[in-house]
Amino acid sequence: DRMVSANEQIEDSFTEPSIRPLNLTDYIGQTDVKRNLEIFIEAAKLRQECLDHVLIYGPPGLGKTTLSTIIANEMDVQIRTTSGPAIERPGDLAAILTALEPGDVLFIDEIHRLNRSVEEVLYPAMEDYCLDIVIGKGPTARSVRLDLPPFTLVGATTRAGMLSAPLRDRFGVTARLEYYNHDELSEIVERSAKVLELELDSTSALEIARRSRGTPRIANRLLRRVRDFAQVKGDGVITYSLSTHALEELQVDKLGLDHIDYKFLFGIMDHFKGGPVGLETISATIGEEAETIEDVYEPYLLQIGFIQRTPRGRMVTPLCYQHFKRELPS
Ligand code: ADP
Repeated sequence: DRMVSANEQIEDSFTEPSIRPLNLTDYIGQTDVKRNLEIFIEAAKLRQECLDHVLIYGPPGLGKTTLSTIIANEMDVQIRTTSGPAIERPGDLAAILTALEPGDVLFIDEIHRLNRSVEEVLYPAMEDYCLDIVIGKGPTARSVRLDLPPFTLVGATTRAGMLSAPLRDRFGVTARLEYYNHDELSEIVERSAKVLELELDSTSALEIARRSRGTPRIANRLLRRVRDFAQVKGDGVITYSLSTHALEELQVDKLGLDHIDYKFLFGIMDHFKGGPVGLETISATIGEEAETIEDVYEPYLLQIGFIQRTPRGRMVTPLCYQHFKRELPS
């Protein structure tokens, strides 16, 4: 597993319950999303209605699950959690929906992975709080309408483009999460350190933030690893020199890049003069699946401007050459 992977790893889940913010005030960054949600939540409460359905999208580890629990907390309701792939048949969804209490939040992670037949059950549930159930088979089959308690669906997805239009249209609120800047990540690291009762100075927090690829999940993971170094190699206090030493040992560089990023970038620089080169060709050269390259390697490298996607393939940018102190190919 990569130290800098944005996907949840088993070990992350040990500390997550304690460091996950529970209200909007502790949810750092994402100011636009927060400002709007605050108003929608307050308005819904004033009207004593449930909040409109919310679609949250953005890359892994940016706080989609966290935000959904915050919405439930701020609305003073319970949250039920499930995911797109976990709901296999329409009956599975019907069982979940009929068990909801009035006002509950239903959180569906990876909502783009719901199958078509399940999605169709969701439409009337979202629109009119009801279920259309077919009883019987053949000529005697008839459809029965079942009322559901009003609820708020919070859907999360890493790929808004993969959501079907009818489903997307049924969300009243859309929240797009952005990568966090260094100051915001520093604040998150300092907050987590406080919860975990760790002593850490602000320069260390910033150093961890810089290497966290804009992602709170990675920031929290790096913090835990640095804590290990502090306990074993130091006296438990996280200082600047200790944290930089730990991060070097963990092989996460100043920009949060690791050996896998190097393999990809040096692959293009060394074998293809920096590109452009087609995805399939890079894939064959470095021995990684094209899909993995696209979903896992590339997003952060695009984000920091080290590569570009062009119609003729991938290109390493002058900024990347500069960073590695390499000469631009003529
Ligand atoms: P996602 O569902 O988008 O993959 P999560 O909601 O599970 O991400 O967040 C990953 C980790 O990052 C959690 O431990 C959470 O505590 C932390 N986190 C995410 N967003 C924030 C934020 N805005 N402020 C503080 N911590 C955050």
